[in-house]
Amino acid sequence: MKSRSRTITGCILGAAVGDSLGLPVEGMTRTRQARMFPHITGHGFLGHQGMVSDDTEHTLLVAQAMAVSGGDPEAFAVDLARRLKWWVAALPAGVGPATLRACLRLLIGFSHRSSGVFSAGNGPAMRSAIIGAAYGHDSEKMKKLVLASTQITHRDPKAYFGALAVAQMAAVSSIGEIGKPTDFVRSLAEELVDYDANEFLGLCSQAAQSANAGHSVARFLEKMNQPEGVGNYVYHTVPAVMQCWFRRPFDFRNAALEMVRAGGDTDTSTSILGAVIGAGVGETGIPEQWVDGILEWPRTVEWMRKVASTLAESVETEKPVTPPEVNPLAILARNAFFMAVVLGHGVRRMAPPY
Ligand SMILES: [Mg+2]
Repeated sequence: MKSRSRTITGCILGAAVGDSLGLPVEGMTRTRQARMFPHITGHGFLGHQGMVSDDTEHTLLVAQAMAVSGGDPEAFAVDLARRLKWWVAALPAGVGPATLRACLRLLIGFSHRSSGVFSAGNGPAMRSAIIGAAYGHDSEKMKKLVLASTQITHRDPKAYFGALAVAQMAAVSSIGEIGKPTDFVRSLAEELVDYDANEFLGLCSQAAQSANAGHSVARFLEKMNQPEGVGNYVYHTVPAVMQCWFRRPFDFRNAALEMVRAGGDTDTSTSILGAVIGAGVGETGIPEQWVDGILEWPRTVEWMRKVASTLAESVETEKPVTPPEVNPLAILARNAFFMAVVLGHGVRRMAPPY
């Protein structure tokens, strides 16, 4: 119980910390980020504190749905779809286009079987590390849960490949035996043997080669024709996260700062990376001031820890466990405040330096 709880808590808080570190510079080019924020050493969303976005919220929704369903894929899909429906109804800021369309379809009555749209955005990848952290010991169950989570919003098989790779990274990280990058890609190829995933596996192999050569994420992205940062396309984001994880599997601080510095979709890329590394190092491996610097309500850091412990209990006992919930009206108020801060950042970005 103890080690499972440590892994799951590390994964959730790692996702939250990575998300909040990346959020102030989300969507900025690498060049502009370097000019506008020459010194990034920690939070910067709200003074020296951070808040979280969809990446962490989805991670928590998946954790709650896994706990309540006891990991049964069908019950999980039904519960996660219901949670996503109410999540979008609370007007979160900065939702990806495919996730927004799929959640609106859920809201007007589509079932989880028909809500997904054809897209290879990052939505499923950003919420699947927690599946690997919880069920990495049972690869068949892990794959079913990743597929169920993916298809509620994204139907392009590419979205599944990316999401599965993230879950597999978190699974390996949580066991703590990180082998050679090329061995990891080979094991991923075995999990995807029933699919035509050669393009994706090729990108993962390039990430492995780049990591073996000791290149930075920024240099890898340059080689992959993304010199200004990680794009919000799963085939851009997941190989970049993988490259950084291969090189720094236990070094949360430097991995997260390097990922933020790489630019682009930084909240998602750093959240996924943080979740993967967090699953390995646990909460104690994440810089304490970054965890304490998350200013969230009603989903406080302590509340996130409770979600983690109920999920750990469910995984260990193989039974459904009721997770903590939050008041939807409190979420509406929180989201209004969050939107105001996001708009403040938007206005700030209109000003120099360019
Ligand atoms: Mg986000």
